[in-house]
Amino acid sequence: MTDAADLVDLRSDTVTRPTDGMRKAMAEAEVGDDVYGEDPAVRALEERVAAMFGHEAAMFVPSGTMGNQIGMRLVCEPGQEILCDADAHVVTYEMGAAAAIFGISTRTVVSDRGLLDADALIEQVRPKSDWHLTATAAIAVENTHNRGFGRVQPLDQLQKLWNWSREADVAVHLDGARLWNAHVASGVPLATYGGLADTASVCFSKGLGTPVGSVLVASEARIAAARLWRKRLGGGMRQVGVLAAACTYALDEHLPRLGEDHEHAQLLATRLGVDPATVQTNMVVLDDVAAPLIAEAAKAQGVLVSQVSARRVRLVTHLDVDRAAVERAADVLNGLLDR
Ligand SMILES: *Cc1c(COP(=O)(O)O)cnc(C)c1O
Repeated sequence: MTDAADLVDLRSDTVTRPTDGMRKAMAEAEVGDDVYGEDPAVRALEERVAAMFGHEAAMFVPSGTMGNQIGMRLVCEPGQEILCDADAHVVTYEMGAAAAIFGISTRTVVSDRGLLDADALIEQVRPKSDWHLTATAAIAVENTHNRGFGRVQPLDQLQKLWNWSREADVAVHLDGARLWNAHVASGVPLATYGGLADTASVCFSKGLGTPVGSVLVASEARIAAARLWRKRLGGGMRQVGVLAAACTYALDEHLPRLGEDHEHAQLLATRLGVDPATVQTNMVVLDDVAAPLIAEAAKAQGVLVSQVSARRVRLVTHLDVDRAAVERAADVLNGLLDR
């Protein structure tokens, strides 16, 4: 058996543990009651993230799901619909929250592994002016795309959708749980991405390696409304600056190193015979493999992977796997893949 410390956990970038430096920043955070708006660490983080994305305001939330759902509620009334791709996180992994909590209808368009196709979405939009139809209030886009295995959305498609949306009076919500990875991989400034969305949610608990935390950015007026929704959902937190401090630390120390995860994913792809061109950020997919067998045999040798389906395995690089760990995982998997 392998020690927990020797495990190479490639299941997800959510499995990271806070580093000593992060724990220190958390311990030293200056805090207050954030429901009173008095937590300096939370305020500093919110102001910093709003500025990074070129938005007026921001709000700290406990999870990306809460950021997405409140973000969508801000731009969609009950009985209206949000359009997104069929594999979007907001309709796949958020427990039907838009419908269950907010009375928002969702409609999906099948995509090529999450690739944003502005025209395909635009074609499906139903106008607000026709009282026969469920009105499409907003379109949700995801960057990078989770079920698209870390795909970075093409900037021209984001721009096309945005330009069209201004004329059409349809809002754009950005699920940017891994927008940091898109930014690092593409070199597109965060403010450019922020400028192509009315509301955007970004996560700190994925590639940036905090234990918890997401931030929703939008206009001043929308964030004021968002604070009401957050409290109503039970997301009002008190001396939560200990968590915000971890996020600020991650922006300083972990965002600049995120490219390493992408290099490690490239290395894994190369070593495992996967076309490196299909790996855009920190996820590698092994197709046409006996996923349950590989996962079990790899685990016995201290390497954890995700089974996406019976024939597909996913590997995700992150802060807690260094180059040596990636090499070791590649050795183990190569022994099992019979390639
Ligand atoms: C992880 C993730 C989220 C948010 O998930 P939480 O677990 O609620 O923080 C949202 N969107 C995408 C694309 C994600 O990968």
